Amino acid sequence: MTYRIGHGFDLHRFSDDPNRKLMLGGVHLEGHRGLNGHSDADAVIHALCDALLGAAGLGDLGVHFPDNDPTYQDADSSGLLQHVVSLLHGEGWVIVNADVTVLAETPKLSPHRQEMESRLSQITGAPISVKATTMERLGPIGEGLALGAEAVALLQNGQQ
Ligand SMILES: [Zn+2]
Repeated sequence: MTYRIGHGFDLHRFSDDPNRKLMLGGVHLEGHRGLNGHSDADAVIHALCDALLGAAGLGDLGVHFPDNDPTYQDADSSGLLQHVVSLLHGEGWVIVNADVTVLAETPKLSPHRQEMESRLSQITGAPISVKATTMERLGPIGEGLALGAEAVALLQNGQQ
């Protein structure tokens, strides 16, 4: 049995477009400014995908879903995560667990944590925890200009 860990980081700037939806962990957080990005800019899912791909040695999200490809314009990142999970399964990898930390001054994530965790666990078939911290009002995240997310993931493979 082989075990591998991976790490992912992502950051998106908040959008000035009042109609842009805020999607995090596959959940729509109503009443909050959305994030700029080619896809739906779900930083939680993007960091998680990069952690999973990194653990499996399969590159990163940009390799699999180029941001100049119109297919992924406003793409639902849940679909990207589903695709990453099937890539891993194709190579014999099983997700043991993953842990995500959201870096944001706003919005408060505690009311949405459980919904994100169950959504992500449903897609990945593994326990996924989501935590949040602020940046003490320092830097672009602390000033509310952007939101970041970090993830670590553990995979196991019985074929290797
Ligand atoms: Zn992203």
